[in-house]
Amino acid sequence: MGSMSGKRVLVMGVANAHSIAWGIAKAMADAGAELAFTYQGEQLLKRVRPLAESVGSTLLIPADVTDSDAMDAAFETLASHWDRLDCVVHAIAFTDKDEMVGRFVDTSRSNFSNSLEISCYSFIDVARRAAPLMTEGGTLLTLTFQGSARVTPHYNLMGVAKAALESAVRYLAADLGPDGIRVNAISPGPMKTLAGAAIRGARRTFRHTEENAPLRANATLDAVGGTAVYLASDAGACTSGEILHVDGGYHVMGMPHVDNLT
Ligand code: NAD
Repeated sequence: MGSMSGKRVLVMGVANAHSIAWGIAKAMADAGAELAFTYQGEQLLKRVRPLAESVGSTLLIPADVTDSDAMDAAFETLASHWDRLDCVVHAIAFTDKDEMVGRFVDTSRSNFSNSLEISCYSFIDVARRAAPLMTEGGTLLTLTFQGSARVTPHYNLMGVAKAALESAVRYLAADLGPDGIRVNAISPGPMKTLAGAAIRGARRTFRHTEENAPLRANATLDAVGGTAVYLASDAGACTSGEILHVDGGYHVMGMPHVDNLT
């Protein structure tokens, strides 16, 4: 019996086999969880379906998080198949690529609203919809990045969106804790995904963290997946409101590793 046997998990944010959501889904399936997936649009369905089928899931639900009607329909569909939900993985973020170059101070009003809606509000919206289905308690998981707390080149508005998301994790943990629902975020270092590649200088950032993290390693899908299993299983029973780093320890460094300074 795996540590997630009998647990039902909704995974939101798989775009392809490199997606962090997919790393988490695979680890949870290996731990015995039953999975359902949402996907952003018909374009992505052809990538998500074979991945879902490879872990025995046929419950695939369209959901663009900016569309309230689609979100209503998605949770109605989910509730018509499952009478109980144990976990939601929210691995969704967006900002205008053109605003990941240049200065943060030039952030536009429209991109601010859109980015914060998709990257932060959607988690609050999902939490409100998922909580009533978590009749035996549950876990809500989201993904953040340390650009929330420290200025990271080109991360710009996403840093502010992640700061808002991390704050939302704490407020949601306080609201939903009395119902036995735990709310946590995983903060991986840079990873080679579609969203990660959209950040200018991604390859340099990847190399920099690898060279300077205490473990001299970047996060892997397996490491993030294992952390998600811990948080969503009974092993994580007393952890809520937490931002857990999976970044080779990079976030503790105040300066690049000393070898690089000589
Ligand atoms: P990804 O491109 O594989 O996944 C991003 C997902 O967001 C996609 O599946 C996309 O369909 C979904 N999405 C965007 N807008 C949406 C909308 N309107 N409605 C529904 N879905 C929408 O990239 P990823 O790196 O796996 O990103 C997953 C999460 O991990 C994001 O929150 C990202 O910020 C976070 N994260 C990524 C890294 C990294 O370096 N890649 C590091 C730390 C945190």
